[in-house]
Amino acid sequence: MTIVITKQGTPPSKRPYNGTCGYCKTQYKCLQEDGDVIFDQRDGDFLRIKCPSCGKPANAYPLRGGYLIGQDQRSGSWLDR
Ligand SMILES: [Zn+2]
Repeated sequence: MTIVITKQGTPPSKRPYNGTCGYCKTQYKCLQEDGDVIFDQRDGDFLRIKCPSCGKPANAYPLRGGYLIGQDQRSGSWLDR
């Protein structure tokens, strides 16, 4: 019996993330292996990285379904853009 891939998966280290630096407003994308995963039960996991532009600590968020997700500035709730 030969094992056949019916749906290609993605190892966690290769999960795509993106975000915007809160300091210099640079937008970036990266992989999970590029930062440290912060587990947040309330808001969901995110990635702690260093901004590639200014070097300040910055956050990146997992891409879901190919869409950028971000935090609504007013309500603080998560949304798909
Ligand atoms: Zn920055």
